[in-house]
Amino acid sequence: MSILRTGTVRYARLMAKLYFRYGAMNSGKSTALLQAAYNYAERGQQVLIAKPRIDTKGEALIVSRLGVERAVNFVIGPNDDVRTMFDAYRSQTKATTGQDVACLLLDEAQFLSVDQVDDLLRIAILEDVPVLAYGIRTDFQTIAFPGSRRLLEVAHALEELKTICRCGRKAMFNARLVNGQFIFDGAQVAIDGENVTYESLCGTCYLRESNGMLAHGFNAPSAFLPTLAPDADFS
Ligand SMILES: [Zn+2]
Repeated sequence: MSILRTGTVRYARLMAKLYFRYGAMNSGKSTALLQAAYNYAERGQQVLIAKPRIDTKGEALIVSRLGVERAVNFVIGPNDDVRTMFDAYRSQTKATTGQDVACLLLDEAQFLSVDQVDDLLRIAILEDVPVLAYGIRTDFQTIAFPGSRRLLEVAHALEELKTICRCGRKAMFNARLVNGQFIFDGAQVAIDGENVTYESLCGTCYLRESNGMLAHGFNAPSAFLPTLAPDADFS
């Protein structure tokens, strides 16, 4: 944190931060993003919204489950330089509105590359613009997505968006169903569509469905005995 000197008063300036707001699927991440964008707009401030290209659901739209949607300002390709893109759209915003960008928001941040997440940290620190990244922590095999892993490593602040499992506990994992059956093997990315769906499960329900398997089956116990104690950490 930089220390600025104003006369004889010395104070720590509030610096922009990189926030990672993560949750299981269906935890309202897109809704929370749109609400955050709305809050800035209500104060007369400009924001930029971006998302990685890999998500085919509404390519250039943020679509919330409540039905609200909004166009993104830019879509990030797998090899795109996020900082260069941000700078270009920031300049464009200044030129068209006369205002600087107050915040950069990212949806589906789990699909960003490590380099792209590093750029988000640079934007927050070096350009002093807050960055709010929303995404899923882990894939259907309980392994972190590369973008999420990097965000967990470098974000200034981690905030969990919670949702509830079918049993009432806090959901932690994203189980994949193909034609209605849970499956625990396959490619990391399979966008939900005709045959593929996802269900957010607590650890207990996930292990029951996977027969105790986590992370491609490594460290699988020989038998899984679920406990029925409520998850104390849900609030
Ligand atoms: Zn459960």
